[in-house]
Amino acid sequence: MPWPWRNLASSLMVNSFLPDWFGTLATTSISDCSLSEELDELLDRNKEWATNTSFAQPKLFPRLAKAQNPKILWIGCSDSRVPETEIFRANPGDFFVHRNIANVVREDDASLNSVLQYSIDGLNIKHIIVCGHYCCGGVKAAMDPPNLPAVNDWIKPISDLYQGSQISLIPLTLSPQRRAQHRPRGRGTGLAHPCPLQRTEQR
Ligand SMILES: [Zn+2]
Repeated sequence: MPWPWRNLASSLMVNSFLPDWFGTLATTSISDCSLSEELDELLDRNKEWATNTSFAQPKLFPRLAKAQNPKILWIGCSDSRVPETEIFRANPGDFFVHRNIANVVREDDASLNSVLQYSIDGLNIKHIIVCGHYCCGGVKAAMDPPNLPAVNDWIKPISDLYQGSQISLIPLTLSPQRRAQHRPRGRGTGLAHPCPLQRTEQR
């Protein structure tokens, strides 16, 4: 089985639980893998979340079932520690989202291009935010490439930027405490800016 699938413990498509008006129910499928305890727990937590959210915001799911109307396109890192909905205490429907390792924006990324086109021409979003984060493993890998060819290919623009301009990307890999102690080398650029969130485009 080709990489990366050979290393996956299981590969399942799971339909998340949402109230009846979404027309979907907790279920599983594809492949001959059985549900692990972790996935059972995940589905239980999903049901609990849907129940609690319906109770706290009874109009939310009925409204979202009709249409989505996000104001923001969020382009962020795939890192599990920076979920945009959580860190901004947002609701489902608030962000249209594209995430990848190290929040790279590449002209040849068909996925990103389709997200951009639909968010602008289909959803009329008002803001596009490209947001990095502290301790980014993708940025760290761009400076010290791991033995992961697909990852290295993806973050090559950051590697090229780092090697070509000798700007400091190190602050992006550090915690806020260590970042404050770090002295950047070379000229400062937007990539080394201490603000974790920079507005890149506004309509
Ligand atoms: Zn990251």
